[in-house]
Amino acid sequence: MTDANENLSAPGEPCFIHGRRMLVRAPRDGAEGRRHLTIILNTLMRLPRAHVQKIPVIVFGDTVGGGSVSTGGNTRNRGRDIIYVQLTYSALQHSLIINGYSRALMHETGHVATHAFGIGNRVRESELRGITYTGNNRNSRFERFADAYRMYMVSPYDFARRLPNACRAVERELRRAGGREQGHTPLFFRRWLFPPED
Ligand SMILES: [Zn+2]
Repeated sequence: MTDANENLSAPGEPCFIHGRRMLVRAPRDGAEGRRHLTIILNTLMRLPRAHVQKIPVIVFGDTVGGGSVSTGGNTRNRGRDIIYVQLTYSALQHSLIINGYSRALMHETGHVATHAFGIGNRVRESELRGITYTGNNRNSRFERFADAYRMYMVSPYDFARRLPNACRAVERELRRAGGREQGHTPLFFRRWLFPPED
């Protein structure tokens, strides 16, 4: 058993995502590792470019966060700069993948959006009613926001139908903190939901 922290200097697999290099440290060998990398790239392609470009390194281990999490992730930041995102190998097991996307990586990218751009800073507890985060920091508004971000990114229409207040709160935060230059204006979302065929 290794904690992802122990793998921080492990050899990395360079990936190019949204035009930028990202290192994935300590991926598994062989077919399983290739499946993991495919899920990671598939997940990140779905998310706003500005958020993904803030992630320099993804590091794997059997546990993350000093051993406190065994099927999820952790994000370490210094102010607005993201140092790394950690994931466990078991965060990418089949049951935790939805439509080809990693739940854990989407949730962690929600934290990245908060640290880097302040997205979610103005969400109120009452807007997140119905989001049932079950990880370690149960009382954190930001954990529930990261889950709401994930739901929005996976299936916004379904999310809007089931939890309209939370969905509106995520949209408002993306627009407020984002702005045109970050590529997540309403226009961006329309394009993303209905990509032009080329
Ligand atoms: Zn979290």
